[in-house]
Amino acid sequence: MSMYDDIEKVLLTEEQIRARVKSLGAEMNAIYSDDDLPLLVCILKGAFMFLGDLTRHLNFRHELDFMEISSYGKSTKSSGIVRILLDLESSIEGRHVVIVEDIVDTGYTLDYILRNLGTRHPATLRVVTLLNKPSRREVEVPVDFSGFEIPDEFVLGYGLDYAEQYRNLPFIGVLKPEVYGKI
Ligand code: 5GP
Repeated sequence: MSMYDDIEKVLLTEEQIRARVKSLGAEMNAIYSDDDLPLLVCILKGAFMFLGDLTRHLNFRHELDFMEISSYGKSTKSSGIVRILLDLESSIEGRHVVIVEDIVDTGYTLDYILRNLGTRHPATLRVVTLLNKPSRREVEVPVDFSGFEIPDEFVLGYGLDYAEQYRNLPFIGVLKPEVYGKI
């Protein structure tokens, strides 16, 4: 049985993602310049693939750093309780910071990150997310660059997991319901 047999449907194809990531890069190229020397903060683990593709479309000088925030574990529902598992290596005081997220769902995670990084006095703090589920929002959060608005479904692939698996799928898809009990 292949991993691909577990997929009920593909929501966003590899080609759709490639095109949108490129245009998100163009949106960011219009805002930032070399002099800003922005710091892109990749939120692990889900945003790693998005960051890898996005960074290659940016034509301004920038630096990268990584932060890991506790996830839902095996659950597909948000607990609203968030913890830092890995913190930034760099100081962000006076820096132009861009948070790179895979998906904004209820908004709790991003709200926590924004408040936490906000206390470190960055010059500017913006957010780029590949996916956005506005219908699920419980806390209002500012999103500066948003790739795709998607319906209220649990998605995976292109960096996003279910129980740490399926991150390597090149598309964004939805699992067959019967898979949830098995993993
Ligand atoms: P929030 O705190 O906004 O509810 O959720 C943010 C985090 O939950 C995301 O960074 C992601 O790790 C996880 N998440 C939310 N929705 C989904 C989804 O549909 N699929 C996957 N794989 N993770 C999700």
